[in-house]
Amino acid sequence: TAAVAAVDLVKVYGRGATAVRALDGVTVGFRRAAFTAIMGPSGSGKSTLMHCLAGLDTATSGQVLLGGTDLGRQSDRVLTRVRRERIGFVFQSFNLLPQLTAAQNVTLPLDLAGRGVDREFLDHVVDALGIGDRLAHRPSELSGGQQQRAALARALVSRPEVVFADEPTGNLDSRAGAEVLGLLRDCVRTLGQTVVMVTHDPVAAAYADRVVLLADGRVAGDLAEPDRGAVT
Ligand code: ADP
Ligand code: ADP
Repeated sequence: TAAVAAVDLVKVYGRGATAVRALDGVTVGFRRAAFTAIMGPSGSGKSTLMHCLAGLDTATSGQVLLGGTDLGRQSDRVLTRVRRERIGFVFQSFNLLPQLTAAQNVTLPLDLAGRGVDREFLDHVVDALGIGDRLAHRPSELSGGQQQRAALARALVSRPEVVFADEPTGNLDSRAGAEVLGLLRDCVRTLGQTVVMVTHDPVAAAYADRVVLLADGRVAGDLAEPDRGAVT
């Protein structure tokens, strides 16, 4: 089974004459330990799809399956636990808490889950992201790119099964972007995590095993590198 999948997913915002059909019957599965890029024009439904797959938003109809479990059938309490323990999400807007240091932000999911911090892995992640010397600072004292990397570190330290990243290189210069993409690829290759990222950048997409194209709320294309054997 796919690590995470959408089955005939429909998402309508609003109602009546002003309703927007952001997702119009999306069926797509993401294999375990695969790195997928979602591309498509602005407004094609990329963010909405990621939010629904991550259990952050509820679809109008259709299913989201996480390791075979239908997220739409879970109580809010279970959903919260699933999001906390099995899913990592890197928001476009970072969503770092301003009153906490970068280090406290990064370890927050583990603290909330009452889990210990794997220091060695944490060091590896923050070093690979080049933010090891920024951890004592609050988000307001970090550049946009450093905030983005702190948000990524926060999504990775608990080693969730599936990591969703919305434009993870959007605020980064090409060198920092390459570090982020290399780390995401390592997470897939060495930790077996499933990574799904939205990007507009063809250079970023080239790091992925597969590119899913959205247009008007539908899957309009699915390009896999043949020798990496992506599955639909
Ligand atoms: P993308 O990420 O590809 O730019 P989105 O998923 O953000 O696309 O948006 C898909 C469509 O849904 C767009 O027409 C957008 O304006 C609309 N949309 C997204 N979020 C909302 C919302 N909260 N309320 C109303 N319409 C929304
Ligand atoms: P993206 O860059 O992914 O397209 P947007 O800038 O379209 O993101 O959307 C940013 C936020 O605004 C998202 O949380 C989205 O759900 C919300 N949003 C997008 N379009 C609309 C809309 N037409 N009405 C209300 N909220 C929207």
